[in-house]
Amino acid sequence: MKAKIAPTTRPAPAPMLVPVGRIEVPPTVVAHRFHREALANAMLAATREEESDRVVGTENTKRPELYGWGQNVGRHVDNTGFMYLVPLSLEHSVLYALHKGDFAEQMLRVGEVVRLWDFAPHWTEDRAPVVSAFVGSFDEPCDEHALQLLAGAVAALARGDYFGAPRVASGMQILLDDECFATADFESAAVTLIADAKRQRRFVIPCAQCNRPAHVLDHHWPYEWSLNACRDHRGNSAPLTSGQLAATTERIAA
Ligand SMILES: [Zn+2]
Repeated sequence: MKAKIAPTTRPAPAPMLVPVGRIEVPPTVVAHRFHREALANAMLAATREEESDRVVGTENTKRPELYGWGQNVGRHVDNTGFMYLVPLSLEHSVLYALHKGDFAEQMLRVGEVVRLWDFAPHWTEDRAPVVSAFVGSFDEPCDEHALQLLAGAVAALARGDYFGAPRVASGMQILLDDECFATADFESAAVTLIADAKRQRRFVIPCAQCNRPAHVLDHHWPYEWSLNACRDHRGNSAPLTSGQLAATTERIAA
């Protein structure tokens, strides 16, 4: 008896990989602390053995985020929809997609916005880690909307804004000494500048061991506080070991 082979993918609803516009990326963008943070994450991702683990993950909030990848991401699918990316720093990168015999290849360039339908298997070839702004994912293409969001995000980075600038997903953020987790209601916490937390009269959540601002919260916060930790006391917690953290923090703050 012949086994039935169920189709594993659906037809692409639009071209799976296309350039959709350009955004000017001023040189100040790469000096932004959030860009440095994303680059540190991308460099760390590049050291991962598994090729599919080399992407700095996104939260897919439909708001601009920063992300990136270590070089040569293995072929994978994300199965979320249409996403947009605009590289902010790279050396030489090509993005490939292959779906039901349909092959697409896109040379990536700083400032060139690309739309990808991420149900299509895709992979990259890169000479160096890549940092990119990202927005997604959407059920339908929405090029104008995405371009507008990404242009605003790049402008915020170029101005050096802290608030309103895109950043890597929360699990990847590497807090610097002027940042903290602050809370107003002891139920939700957000990363912000210590000065801003004080201005807003929010409570700065302390390290469980030394009372300095925590750079990592207990996974069970707000119910548990015992694993709240500052940079020195966070030990080997994900995503960075303390040694990597010290090195990347210096790199970001430099
Ligand atoms: Zn501490």
